[in-house]
Amino acid sequence: MRVPPGLTPADFENARKQWEQAVGRDWVFSSDEDVDTYRDSYSPFWHEGDEPVPSAAVAPKTVEQVQEVLRVASSYKIPLWTISTGKNLGYGGSAPLLSGSVVLDLKRMDRVIEVNDKNHYALVEPGVSYFDLYRHIQDRNLKVWIDPPDPGWGSLIGNALERGGGYTPLRDHFDAHCGMEVVLANGEIVRTGMGALPQSQTWQQYRYGFGPYVDGIFSQSNLGVVTKMGFWLYPQPEAFLSGTVGVAKRDDLFPLVENFAYLMNSGIVQATTTVVSPLSYSRDPQLRVLRAQGSTSDVERYAAEKNLPYWSVSLPFYGPAKVIAAQWEYAKQRFRAIPGATFQDGASYRFPLDTDQLAKIVNPVPFGVPSLQTFSIGGPRSQGHMWFSPIIPMSGDAILEAQNVFDQVYQDLGSSSAAPPGFPIWNFFARAFVIIYFFPIEHDIEKNRRNREIFRRLVKTSAEHGWGEYRTHTAFMGDVMDAYSFNDHALLRLHETMKDALDPNGVLSPGKNGIWPKGMRKART
Ligand SMILES: Cc1cc2nc3c(=O)[nH]c(=O)nc-3n(C[C@H](O)[C@H](O)[C@H](O)COP(=O)(O)OP(=O)(O)OC[C@H]3O[C@@H](n4cnc5c(N)ncnc54)[C@H](O)[C@@H]3O)c2cc1C
Repeated sequence: MRVPPGLTPADFENARKQWEQAVGRDWVFSSDEDVDTYRDSYSPFWHEGDEPVPSAAVAPKTVEQVQEVLRVASSYKIPLWTISTGKNLGYGGSAPLLSGSVVLDLKRMDRVIEVNDKNHYALVEPGVSYFDLYRHIQDRNLKVWIDPPDPGWGSLIGNALERGGGYTPLRDHFDAHCGMEVVLANGEIVRTGMGALPQSQTWQQYRYGFGPYVDGIFSQSNLGVVTKMGFWLYPQPEAFLSGTVGVAKRDDLFPLVENFAYLMNSGIVQATTTVVSPLSYSRDPQLRVLRAQGSTSDVERYAAEKNLPYWSVSLPFYGPAKVIAAQWEYAKQRFRAIPGATFQDGASYRFPLDTDQLAKIVNPVPFGVPSLQTFSIGGPRSQGHMWFSPIIPMSGDAILEAQNVFDQVYQDLGSSSAAPPGFPIWNFFARAFVIIYFFPIEHDIEKNRRNREIFRRLVKTSAEHGWGEYRTHTAFMGDVMDAYSFNDHALLRLHETMKDALDPNGVLSPGKNGIWPKGMRKART
């Protein structure tokens, strides 16, 4: 049996017994076989002693049980690691950052408390997955959409707290939340926003309540355990259509992105898409030679001969059929200012889709339907992966600069696996782009070490250029937080001040996002 750091086996045994009394014997796990299911199956530390592993897991069913689990953890100073459904693959899975922490597994708290399809919101517990909420809505024939991320088996709460993203106009999942219930380390239950008003009728409709808006301090943090969260849902739209804009020259990227930013920031395009160079997907050896040795105009000529755009962006539109047709027309009108711009009509649908239509759609996620297709289509072919995901400005200059800077990092480190050319640039969030680089995880110690080294270099180099990651694997949380260093790490000091005030015993997810409790700051990596 593993034991949390700083604890005697006897104390741990006592704590386990108290947890068993609180949640039932079946819901405290400590055999290696059970506990191993909480390891990160995409760990970049496979077969190395550094892989953080939990010592046990405890799975409460109610808010009162969460309070009791926290009380016991505090009295023995046992580090916990909170998960909702624990499917945070690519960012640490369900494994803790600090080895020996006990996983606080909330997936048994799985009630859909309310779905309202007149004001379009839901209130759920942490164990509710996108599949669960989708089924709940379908069973009742409610006219609202959820916004799943690529894999639908995760929870709304875990994904939103990590500030994850989806595809429909409600794609920024933390932004789409409205109201929380949080259990603090001292066991106190707090409701945020209008939830603080005992007779509130608008907890899921008005975010701010009165006074400082505190919801943000519970995202990507270790300051509380979220036991309920409200989400805005998308009213089932009448229709969808997409259209792709292509441009012929490398430097057409500048007006392409400028017009795209205009459409995004004016709310004409509202959903997730990518700016890509279709040339990057070509495996033609002739193109590789041209890229390495030729000039930009050689590559442009090649693209013209092959009838490929140099850059393209697909624009997704959701809403009333007449409105979205007009939005696509307006977008074309703007992009026509770029000489030689091409336009291609894409998929179009009327909702609701019937079963036959749905079956023909390879990836239904952008239509509010959760799926696991991602593991077979664009998903990983390796033994796992993690992502490097810096936020960059929404401009053509930033895209080209990032491409050059990251390519250089790979070259400097002599990596045979060069940075992917023309990596997709996502608009998961308003007003800025996020680049998502895929890092394979393998059961190969040397390759993983190498990838960790490249990853750390990318984080540092990004920071030197003013780009920071929006989210990261537990292995790099210290590195990323270290980069947010304005005024000698004033932000981290603020986080630590809050940590010390709200969690003086340091039991909640030590090290999460680089924030350590007072007694463990030496452990900071
Ligand atoms: C192929 C693939 C594609 C992916 N695509 C996407 C994508 O499109 N968009 C995207 O966002 N992600 C994506 N991911 C990443 C990940 O799978 C999802 O974000 C997933 O939804 C997160 O899992 P979860 O909801 O089970 O979170 P959990 O693992 O339950 O939680 C994540 C973290 O949030 C915190 N947390 C969770 N619950 C609580 C709570 N109740 N109180 C306090 N803190 C809490 C903890 O720190 C926890 O480690 C992808 C992963 C893979 C493998």
